[in-house]
Amino acid sequence: MAKIEMKTPLVEMDGDEMTRVIWKMIKDKLICPYVDLKTEYYDLGLVERNETNDQITIDSANATKKYGVAVKCATITPNAQRMTEYNLKEMWKSPNGTIRAILDGTVFRAPILVKGINSLIPTWTKPITIARHAYGDVYKNSEMKVKDGSKAELIVTDKDGNETRQLIHEFKGSDGIIQGMHNINKSIASFARSCFNFALDTKQNIWFATKDTISKQYDHTFKDIFAEIFETEYKSKFEAAGIEYFYTLIDDAVARVVRSEGGYIWACKNYDGDVMSDMVATAFGSLGMMTSVLVSPEGVYEYEAAHGTVTRHYYKHLKGEETSTNSVATIFAWTGALKKRGELDGIPELSAFAEKLEKATVQTIEDGIMTGDLYVLSTLADKKKVNTEQFLDAINERLAKTV
Ligand code: NAP
Ligand code: MG
Repeated sequence: MAKIEMKTPLVEMDGDEMTRVIWKMIKDKLICPYVDLKTEYYDLGLVERNETNDQITIDSANATKKYGVAVKCATITPNAQRMTEYNLKEMWKSPNGTIRAILDGTVFRAPILVKGINSLIPTWTKPITIARHAYGDVYKNSEMKVKDGSKAELIVTDKDGNETRQLIHEFKGSDGIIQGMHNINKSIASFARSCFNFALDTKQNIWFATKDTISKQYDHTFKDIFAEIFETEYKSKFEAAGIEYFYTLIDDAVARVVRSEGGYIWACKNYDGDVMSDMVATAFGSLGMMTSVLVSPEGVYEYEAAHGTVTRHYYKHLKGEETSTNSVATIFAWTGALKKRGELDGIPELSAFAEKLEKATVQTIEDGIMTGDLYVLSTLADKKKVNTEQFLDAINERLAKTV
């Protein structure tokens, strides 16, 4: 059988530890036998990041801007222990943070649902995709402890030196605390555009919520920017696609989410997204089943698994012990990227292949063949735990029958 030809290369960002091991297996077993894979390869493994003073990460992000689609393996974000383990020149920043800053993107996380792995919330039968704004608010705050008898004010000095002041609180009878936060309209607008684009792309409704009734300037600005961009740039496109933009208060949103069946995108401010993404991920089950895609406001896409490098499994693997690491999210990162490349380059066979690989992966688990993390969750009566490699081989058996 002739392999499927590609036109534009995918930007391939290799990574670390167990996910690096899986990365190669997925390519060798599930992609390269069927696709004449064209990639521009960037090794974001920690060794190479250290060698290149992290230039490789910057180069990979710029390549993603140029070509439009990337697929990324999980990577180590160094801490003190990694400094010695890898003999690092510097504690290099998180590659995801660097790439996100260059692409100005928003991260969308969505669970992969399979029969037998049930959500802890029984009504959630379709995925809930969370989009988290990744700039400002409490993550870039300025805060102080304040002594009794102090007066705290907000002071803004404009470019001509004029001051505007506003009282925060006069502390009488107790010490206290204060906090200053900011955001920038440009970042909020990018967030809104990424969300609306992704909703159109995946044909799902999008929900957004803030506490605008209480925060009449800060949160209300988020609401206003979303509303204006929607009205002027997206309303007719949404109508044509038959999808909706729905705005509500954050507490109402939480209540509706819990009662919903899923199947939409939930755009969250930075803090809400931090908290809610953990809640949603936990309710849907395993980290190994959570995908993540970074979407820029210009429509550049970078696909990855939401989990890390699965260090504990890697150390076992190095000792020659058997591992049972879930490769599903990493497979779906590849299929997401291949589908997008097929769509952009007009190669329907490529997109169709990616869909078949996704179906074969889901079918394998629904046939009762799964890795250890899923084995403990699955309610299937007839189930079998397999090792990392056997799982990929079982997918390939099913894939080979459909292509
Ligand atoms: P992790 O790699 O996601 O793993 C945490 C635990 O979750 C694992 O030990 C494993 O539990 C379970 N798990 C996660 N993914 C799994 C999979 N595919 N199959 C089976 N089990 C899975 O998170 P971490 O241990 O906090 O971080 C490890 C490294 O990854 C760190 O260096 C961190 O910087 C990096 N990281 C990278 C990214 C990224 O590149 N996007 C994201 C997060 C973390 P058991 O051990 O109980 O089996
Ligand atoms: Mg969190």
